[in-house]
Amino acid sequence: MADHTHDLFVIGGGSGGVRAARFAAQRGARVGMAESGRMGGTCVNVGCIPKKLYSYGAHYAEGFTEAAGYGWEIAQPPTLNWATLKANRAKEITRLNGIYEGLMTNAQVLRLQGHGRLLDAHTVEVTSDDGKTTRHSARHILIATGGTPFVPEFPGCDLVVTSDDMFDLPVLPRRLVVVGGGYIGCEMASIFHGLGAEVTLLYRGEQILRGFDEEVRAFTADEMCKHGVDVRVNADVARIEALPDGTRRLTLKDGAQLDADVVLYATGRRANVRNLGLEALGVRQAESGAIEVDEHFATSVPGVYALGDVVGRMELTPVALAEAMVLVDHLFGPAPGQSARTMDYDNIPTAVFTHPPIGTVGLGEQQARERFGAIQVFRGDFKPLKHTLSGSSERTLVKLIVDAASDRVVGLHMVGADAGEIVQGFAVALKCGATKAQFDATIGIHPTSAEEFVTLRTMARG
Ligand code: NDP
Repeated sequence: MADHTHDLFVIGGGSGGVRAARFAAQRGARVGMAESGRMGGTCVNVGCIPKKLYSYGAHYAEGFTEAAGYGWEIAQPPTLNWATLKANRAKEITRLNGIYEGLMTNAQVLRLQGHGRLLDAHTVEVTSDDGKTTRHSARHILIATGGTPFVPEFPGCDLVVTSDDMFDLPVLPRRLVVVGGGYIGCEMASIFHGLGAEVTLLYRGEQILRGFDEEVRAFTADEMCKHGVDVRVNADVARIEALPDGTRRLTLKDGAQLDADVVLYATGRRANVRNLGLEALGVRQAESGAIEVDEHFATSVPGVYALGDVVGRMELTPVALAEAMVLVDHLFGPAPGQSARTMDYDNIPTAVFTHPPIGTVGLGEQQARERFGAIQVFRGDFKPLKHTLSGSSERTLVKLIVDAASDRVVGLHMVGADAGEIVQGFAVALKCGATKAQFDATIGIHPTSAEEFVTLRTMARG
């Protein structure tokens, strides 16, 4: 231990890296951290936070329309000043970058601006923006370098943008084509439609949002279409050309053509492992590039650890934070009076900020049937009270999946306003193993959409 200048050296200042550095330092470890970009990683700079801010911005569009049903007379059709939205977002992100820097300073972490690369299992070389290199020795090294958007190779792939570019587009596109039906594709399609673009979403399979409950997928696709997003399934791009006026012309594999000002490829993300020195060191990676780790986030090379998006288990900020706490407990011992945490990937709630959003925790209907055999499905879809006057035809879906043998609720799903906010609370109940009888014994809060979860009495499917 005395041979090394650091107990822990972290490469990557995103959610997972910052959490590990901060809590390791709190346990008395000497910690160093290299980050080549701005602090906060994907979540703060080009992910969760700016995305959610733009989603709030986009929701005003329907708010303006719906307000008429409540008697508001808006004289002029409201217009979006894209430059103002971008500038206000940038200011907030800069403030958050500063907070993350402050977390490192206050924890007395040695913060280095530059690209970190492993020279061996205990040495990191950091190259600063001006090309100067420094070497740092550490008992443990943590790789928390996150992920980066993936665009497949095809004719015209250089004419597309990725989610990283969407927040600072010079001009709000009039026509946007989004390729990919996952989290990012669906969220960006909803957001940019709300901000005023004509949006077409192209998905190569039968239904968007693979992995989610089938009914949730279909319901969300319908609602997105009702809102005005042109969702096209079984649509695969063959090539893209640039016309002289800058228009992107897409030709699909079935020969159909469509024009756009911007084409966003949201076709997944890959581990950010470039130039880290992993191959030379023999750090085992999956075919996708994701670093392979055990339950303590140890890689195949003793002393080297990895967590967060770079290990590609569940690419969610709160998961990276939890993984970091598990690692800190493992390397430096748990907090006084507590036992070392372990990572449990069951019942992790998640939201997709489509319009309307999805909130989900536990298993989908099909997954639950495979796991438990006999299940009971309770569901309801309804027009929320707000829309009785707003004129909107938006509906809300609530759904519970119950294991018939134990009566435990093993899946809870919602598509509707504030689904993320609502499902977070119910996730605690699922984590505690709540039964359908306990849901039924809970008094609702009236009038809310959330109360529907405790008033679902009629079984839809057994
Ligand atoms: P996803 O894996 O969720 O979706 C990728 C989409 O692109 C899928 O629809 C996939 O189709 C499609 N696709 C993949 N390759 C191709 C190809 N070659 N041609 C055409 N289509 C293709 O990735 P995202 O980039 O949307 O998001 C990455 C991760 O980031 C998510 O899984 C999530 O963990 C996280 N995230 C979380 C958010 C949140 O919590 N709200 C928000 C945004 C991201 P197919 O289904 O057929 O494979």
